[in-house]
Amino acid sequence: MTTDTIDVIRPGDPGYDDHRTGFQTFRPLRPDLIATPSDTEELTSAVRYARDQGLPIAVQATGHGTPGRTDGGLLINTTRLTGVEVDPERRTAWVAAGTRWDEVVAATAAHGLAGLAGNARSVGVISYALGGGIGPIARRYGFAADHVHRIELITADGERTMITADSDPDLFWAVRGGGGNFGVVAGIEIGLFEQPHLFGGSLFFDTPLLESGLKAWREWLDTVPDEITSTAVMVPLPDLPVLPPPLRGRHVLSIRVTSTGPADQAEELVRPLQAIGEPLLGGFRVLPYAEIATINNDPTDPAPHRNRSTLLSDLDQSMITELVTAVGPGAAVPTVFELRHLGGALAQPPAVPNAVGNRTAGFSAAMINGLSSADPEPAELDRVAAHQGRVLAQLSGRSAGRLFTFLGGTAGPDDVRAAFDPDAWDRLTKIKSRVDPGNVFRYNANIPPSA
Ligand SMILES: Cc1cc2nc3c(=O)[nH]c(=O)nc-3n(C[C@H](O)[C@H](O)[C@H](O)COP(=O)(O)OP(=O)(O)OC[C@H]3O[C@@H](n4cnc5c(N)ncnc54)[C@H](O)[C@@H]3O)c2cc1C
Repeated sequence: MTTDTIDVIRPGDPGYDDHRTGFQTFRPLRPDLIATPSDTEELTSAVRYARDQGLPIAVQATGHGTPGRTDGGLLINTTRLTGVEVDPERRTAWVAAGTRWDEVVAATAAHGLAGLAGNARSVGVISYALGGGIGPIARRYGFAADHVHRIELITADGERTMITADSDPDLFWAVRGGGGNFGVVAGIEIGLFEQPHLFGGSLFFDTPLLESGLKAWREWLDTVPDEITSTAVMVPLPDLPVLPPPLRGRHVLSIRVTSTGPADQAEELVRPLQAIGEPLLGGFRVLPYAEIATINNDPTDPAPHRNRSTLLSDLDQSMITELVTAVGPGAAVPTVFELRHLGGALAQPPAVPNAVGNRTAGFSAAMINGLSSADPEPAELDRVAAHQGRVLAQLSGRSAGRLFTFLGGTAGPDDVRAAFDPDAWDRLTKIKSRVDPGNVFRYNANIPPSA
């Protein structure tokens, strides 16, 4: 066995802080060493170096996921390993480890093709797609993980392999749903869809319409076909000049809708939402797929935040009343609260089975709480954690487990287990024992090796 040598960044070196921090600035990783490979050979060498030195490995692309506790070890930062190659004939794209969705959307849109991007343009493709991945056209096409065809993986022993449904069905099943638990992913091939245009947009309603608007949205969902995917978000907005004047300082309800169907039909389908009341802002239009991120308009600036989420079997009118009390304008802690409508193709089994769990959930509910700094006082964290815990407890009667892609590295073992069906969990831990018995890849939403 040869020992690979690699260039590393150590604490105190120029670039150390830049390379350990990403979009989520809360509690950055504190690795002993950082590798920044620029191609798959260097990526493989980094894993072999960690193997030879007995180091655990953390991986970071954009830093949108809350990293796990990383004191020591090797951080592999993939931001130099980017690239997209579209094959319009086969309707596929090969996407390198550190690539963000905005690059992929631009590259595929040039061919009138669409990948299953998420709501935010700056999220990394690999972790999103391998954790499940649900975006603005998810009810029409399913989870992003359902449309991953090939995965180039470097396992803890330093082996570099291309995994497909034929080459290693177990591992191919596990990585599509269990994410970065089985090795470092160098790249993936994703399926694309002919979808040059979408119909969609968002409506913003003022505080007095929070509850009635959410209730009307919930009723409307019973009438929509799978081509419609939508999200409703309660957002306490600051009074800042960067925001459009009507939204400043308001606690708004934002309803975001995407349709993959014909525009005239979609226009009819969204009409009931316009009857909720006079919106402060917003509207619907036909847009090129390249502009998909404008529908949700997620933030792109790095900031510290603490997120918690759950899946719900359903959402009834009385739960909405309770939710508006818990996270609306009178909430103990200002909270962005996002409800995503699931079902449709998300509830269907994929053509090639994968580990994504809880497919029959009706909704995803997520809380995003901003923090005052990357290292907030314990009292602030306790206040936010207690608030999030209270809201989750309130929803627990309707909990349908967790969605892996929303967990982040600080998720507890029970949360990670709750992202999978019990049989799938058993199988995942056995596959982990085969490919990563020492749990080298543990700084994540961790699937441990079976006992
Ligand atoms: C603003 C925002 C919007 C979001 N919107 C959506 C959405 O619409 N739909 C959805 O499903 N999710 C969404 N997410 C969740 C997001 O998909 C996950 O947090 C995802 O893990 C982020 O991946 P990343 O590469 O951007 O982040 P990173 O923090 O860089 O990576 C997250 C984790 O993935 C693993 N990882 C990354 N790259 C590799 C690799 N090459 N090999 C092995 N492991 C790797 C590591 O364990 C790492 O800690 C959103 C998150 C944010 C913050």
